[in-house]
Amino acid sequence: MNPHETEVCGCGRKGCLEQYSSATGLARLARQALAGEHEASALDGVGNVTAKDVFDAYKAGDKVAAGVVDKFAGVLGRGLSIISCVVDPEIFVIGGGVSKAGQPLLDAVQERFRGEAFSSCKETKFALATLGNDAGIYGCVRLILE
Ligand SMILES: [Zn+2]
Repeated sequence: MNPHETEVCGCGRKGCLEQYSSATGLARLARQALAGEHEASALDGVGNVTAKDVFDAYKAGDKVAAGVVDKFAGVLGRGLSIISCVVDPEIFVIGGGVSKAGQPLLDAVQERFRGEAFSSCKETKFALATLGNDAGIYGCVRLILE
């Protein structure tokens, strides 16, 4: 997705959507922002910044965290807008570690999605996965039981 990425994704390639739009990716974006010149932030001095740290700071109005969330939401919103061009889903359900950030995450991603999506897809619904980070394991168990 990003041909200019220099760091390697967990899958071994570079520039995957996963590299930006996961909890790990969000923490990585925060570390990059904190390594550069930036305004004073609640994230300064936090040893190993996590996605939760970023969203806590974001909810408290931290400008560095807001920039990181904006970048995250921009990449994910654009990725989902591309998917919607092909698949046109009724709803996007956001799960995984980042879904713990709740409604503020959903709002940020949906706003960026609407800015990128075709007009016929702009009203696609967004929701948080009710099983949170355990959705994958529930699906795995169901496959085994069937
Ligand atoms: Zn990858």
